[in-house]
Amino acid sequence: MNSMTEAEFQVVKSIGFVLALGLAVAIQHWRPHDPHQGSWRTNGGLWGLNAVILGLLCVGCACTVSRWADTNDAGALHLTEAALWIAIPVSILGLDLVSYGWHRANHRVSLLWRFHQVHHSDPAFTTTTALRFHPGELLLALPLRLAAIVALGVPIVGVIAFEVVFAFANFFEHGNIGLPLGLERALGRTFILPALHRRHHSQEKPLLNSNYGTIFSFWDRFFGTYADATSNDRVHIGLPGTRESLGPLGVLAMPARGVFRGK
Ligand SMILES: [Zn+2]
Repeated sequence: MNSMTEAEFQVVKSIGFVLALGLAVAIQHWRPHDPHQGSWRTNGGLWGLNAVILGLLCVGCACTVSRWADTNDAGALHLTEAALWIAIPVSILGLDLVSYGWHRANHRVSLLWRFHQVHHSDPAFTTTTALRFHPGELLLALPLRLAAIVALGVPIVGVIAFEVVFAFANFFEHGNIGLPLGLERALGRTFILPALHRRHHSQEKPLLNSNYGTIFSFWDRFFGTYADATSNDRVHIGLPGTRESLGPLGVLAMPARGVFRGK
């Protein structure tokens, strides 16, 4: 598997991405929470731009650094000669923890928030919100993600497993989805669900500063940022001070225009 080329890596990752999006959209169609469907134009436009920028700059970087770590016996999983059945779940857990820390830093550090606020400026909360990231945020996150792959010694199959699970979790947690309350309570102990993450997209600061996870909710519990939420909660989505109709160019200019915070 570690002989996989960057092109093959991209094909497998892209198929996983499409399947993850399709599954999340299907669940959203099955259990819609709010009639407001959001803007495909702005969110899809940002996604297209990000795909081009990252595609040109670093199309298979994760595959390359993973193979380098394998060849040079670098990283915890290679040093401990972990079997794949251990390496894959550890890779998913480790990279999700790094993502949790990165997300918290994006809310704490003013320069990072200038880019991350673009994601929060979506006045709707829907699967396409998961595509709404400023290219600056993704470029700043890239070195950290690659360093984590090397430090952990994540095998290529572990990178792919993480990317696909993470993509689904990202689409699902932003889904305009209202799950049955019993299911929300049971699954919310382990996973970040749309109701938990919807709270994180609130305009109110105390709600905004909670539930930073993407796949697992236990990082938030462990680090004291978890807050219970159900689909019955009313949340005022978005950022105060930003216009609801911001198009792709408007959101791209946001980091230069200033800092918008929750109330
Ligand atoms: Zn956030």
